[in-house]
Amino acid sequence: MKITTVVGARPQFIKAAPVSRALAAVGVAEAILHTGQHFDAGMSDVFFRELEIAAPARHLGIGGLPHGAMTGRMLEGIEQALLEDRPDCVLVYGDTDSTLAGALAAVKLNISVAHVEAGLRSFNLAMPEEVNRRVADHVSSLLFAPTEAAVENLRREGLMDGVHRVGDVMYDAALLVANSARARSTVLSRLGLRAGGYVLATVHRAENTDNAARLRIIIGALGELAREIPLVLPLHPRTRKIMTSLGLAIPPGIRAIEPVGFLDMVMLEQSARLIATDSGGVQKEAYFHGVPCVTLREETEWVELVEIGANRLAAPVSVAAVRAALFAALETPRPQPEVHRFYGDGHAAGRIAGILAARAH
Ligand code: UDP
Repeated sequence: MKITTVVGARPQFIKAAPVSRALAAVGVAEAILHTGQHFDAGMSDVFFRELEIAAPARHLGIGGLPHGAMTGRMLEGIEQALLEDRPDCVLVYGDTDSTLAGALAAVKLNISVAHVEAGLRSFNLAMPEEVNRRVADHVSSLLFAPTEAAVENLRREGLMDGVHRVGDVMYDAALLVANSARARSTVLSRLGLRAGGYVLATVHRAENTDNAARLRIIIGALGELAREIPLVLPLHPRTRKIMTSLGLAIPPGIRAIEPVGFLDMVMLEQSARLIATDSGGVQKEAYFHGVPCVTLREETEWVELVEIGANRLAAPVSVAAVRAALFAALETPRPQPEVHRFYGDGHAAGRIAGILAARAH
């Protein structure tokens, strides 16, 4: 059994880390193909190093292009690589252009596709991620769903064969680094932060960054919160670039920093009083660490956390609305996480590896 794993963006390195280890443990040969979607040290290299992921066997160096051009060039590059390497299966993660290109290139060559994080839906086709994940699911023969809601979404689209509810590999990843983050990260002292005494925020979704009005609302509301409590904002390169081009200044009080590695991020999450984010992964990590969360979007794929009140949605339609949600969440008690109820037991990666290894026989 020979697998090619296609990754390209930050959350995919994190998701791939526990699965790569689990594949090695069951003796499945894996070659990593990095598309280059995220390419700099802070968005890519640091995750390979900290999470001890094997160096990519191939690096296509395709990044920083519009969706069509990027997906097209990736398709071409991945197809070429697959023709040369002839894997039995292509493993893709999540919902980026790298996911879409990996899945399409493979299925067209009759190579089976396995999708980790299958079945997530926002039901908002204006999001590029929603298009990518729907297509990936429909061309996959193995669909590794993280949650019950994801299995149900797949069922509604007629996808039942090859669906496995394995749990969330991001929980596996969080457990993988929880102790080392506490032991090795110095981020709190570097930034002069007190555990429980600051808010952590991230903003990078295209629906927020590519819409100047929404971005102004989010930054404005975070700025108001930062008058009350220190607020740290590790800025995604896309967000920084757009803020600069809009001339949108960082309000006083917001500590805008470069993106951080995973150990520092987990440390920042664990010790935050509140997390405000439009990231899929960060919403769940807030819950894993028992930190209240405000999601700066109209909807979320991780509906269970909104249902139990651990996460609240704040659509960035006005500064007043977002501000109100942030201040209300600041006063809510910490959620008592029951991670197993929703996201599995931290052994999702082992299950995925087991299922893939069994296909070899
Ligand atoms: N993350 C990180 N450093 C940062 C910001 C995020 O390590 O400065 C991690 C975060 O902990 C989570 C993942 O990146 O595991 C989420 O990635 P992102 O928000 O880019 O994508 P999404 O989850 O929305 O697809």
